[in-house]
Amino acid sequence: MPPLRQIILSTLLLTISLVPAKARDAETLSEARGKNGMVVSVSPPASEAGLAILKAGGNAVDAAIAVEFALAVTWPEAGNIGGGGFMMVHPVGGREVFCIDYRETAPGSATETMFTPKDGRHTHKIVGVPGTVKGMARAHAKFGKLEWKQLVVPAVKLAADGFVIDDALASSLNSVLESIITKEGGHHQELIRVYGKIPQKGAEKTKWKAGDRLVLPDLAKTLQRIADRGAEGFYQGETAELLVAEMQRGDGLITVEDLANYKAKARRAVHGKFRGYDVYGAPPPSSGGVCLVEMLNVLERFDLRKYDRYSTRNIHIIAETMKRVFCDRAQFLGDQDFVKTPKRLTRKNYARKLAEDIDERFATPSETLAPHVEVMSESPSTTHFSVIDGDGLAVSNTTTLEASWGARIVVKGAGFVLNNEMGDFNWYPDHTDRSGKIGTKANRIAPGKRMLSSQTPTIIAYKGHPALVTGSPGGRTIINTTLQMVLNVLEFEMDLPEAMRAARIHHQWLPDKITYETFADQITPETIAELEAKGHVLSARKKSSTQGDAHSIAIDLDTGEYHGVADWRRNGKALGY
Ligand code: GLU
Repeated sequence: MPPLRQIILSTLLLTISLVPAKARDAETLSEARGKNGMVVSVSPPASEAGLAILKAGGNAVDAAIAVEFALAVTWPEAGNIGGGGFMMVHPVGGREVFCIDYRETAPGSATETMFTPKDGRHTHKIVGVPGTVKGMARAHAKFGKLEWKQLVVPAVKLAADGFVIDDALASSLNSVLESIITKEGGHHQELIRVYGKIPQKGAEKTKWKAGDRLVLPDLAKTLQRIADRGAEGFYQGETAELLVAEMQRGDGLITVEDLANYKAKARRAVHGKFRGYDVYGAPPPSSGGVCLVEMLNVLERFDLRKYDRYSTRNIHIIAETMKRVFCDRAQFLGDQDFVKTPKRLTRKNYARKLAEDIDERFATPSETLAPHVEVMSESPSTTHFSVIDGDGLAVSNTTTLEASWGARIVVKGAGFVLNNEMGDFNWYPDHTDRSGKIGTKANRIAPGKRMLSSQTPTIIAYKGHPALVTGSPGGRTIINTTLQMVLNVLEFEMDLPEAMRAARIHHQWLPDKITYETFADQITPETIAELEAKGHVLSARKKSSTQGDAHSIAIDLDTGEYHGVADWRRNGKALGY
């Protein structure tokens, strides 16, 4: 019997900004219940687009495609057509779980040493070949039911007619515009033209506020080409020409051939077992699935549930596990088409060794875990959404531009934002430092290679039925946020809202410290002192600076009811029927 009656199918769509947005109130979660379908995303109009597709007879993959394109309009700091991501699909009837890998690739002329410490993070050169549109086309070809056009048109309409923005989007727009205007110039003018608020006659301020309408006519035309011609509407013809012309205005590398050569891939999911449940995660080039399974394998040896969720003992064990797994991530993980993923990482007997190495009394200094890596003396934006339809087909999808607003470059005349995903490669061969820069081999730049990701769209199932769909944004914190959602539900038997309100911690090997959320004082000063006495360094997040944004769905396996919950940390809407 599963330890839990109420099981959660949660889809986490997490989005993080460079500039922390105003934290919302943990009490004001958006929740929905239903048996026929559920969509949970960061953006209310995008959740509505998904729900409308479900109600029109589309399946969960159709709805996810509609959400993805809508997010490119309504959540432009992370939703995209100029970026990439990973879509996990759990088919009905326990058949093989797939991951559609639409991660960006390095352009054909990229080299291992193309970046120097002087290179900024908002340049043309840092843009990877976008994967989103081919990813959606691949998912549609494999699983879709409705016509492609029907799935893209809602986004076209949102862009052409405009939509009413909320607080979260207003604050994201204002942050990026202010930062560009005060700190950056030239290449970012198109972003200001497209996303800047046009001053109205007599208006004192040009800042966006909730209730304003955002209209995106260039993006509407690009999306219409995608609606009419499928992936060709992006990778060939006018859109491709505009993208390549944009590259040529900066020192960007992407060519017409790079676009034509891009392939989205359908890969087998990483599979693990935890407490009788099946855990399905995204495979390399994402590190998310391997790291999640590896961490769960270690943690199942510790009976965490016997102790308080926020006890010193449990935080210590969880942080020591994160530290060891992130150390493996740095040493061994990269694009599986270029670097072999060691099979042992997800095996139980390897986890046993890692667990035995954890000293319950003391913290292990990070550097001693990989003595051969020379250690010398890192911004996130992504979004995650979860969808399930009435037949039980479940989709967990995380998508990103890398940083909030990616490279902060809008393709002139095409209206979409470009990623800065090349920043996820290891930039400096052999330079690994205490600040968290990693220079190990597996994730160095090569033409056509995919940069290592932390995106962790996850589906937990029991006997072939999805139980929890989850994931998050947040750079390397993504893996740890997702881990804690899974533990909160499966190990600590929390319901989904409680799991969402639980304070999150993060350790990523280097720097050697635990960061923790403080909004509800769940981790007490006494616990902090006891952790410090064990040798941990702790760093409190400001109350307003939270970790992740996990939009999830829990499924009650007894009744078949779906419970969608949007994380309160950023924004979001759960809609079901
Ligand atoms: N680019 C990051 C990754 O793929 C995600 C960035 C973020 O969530 O902020 O791991």
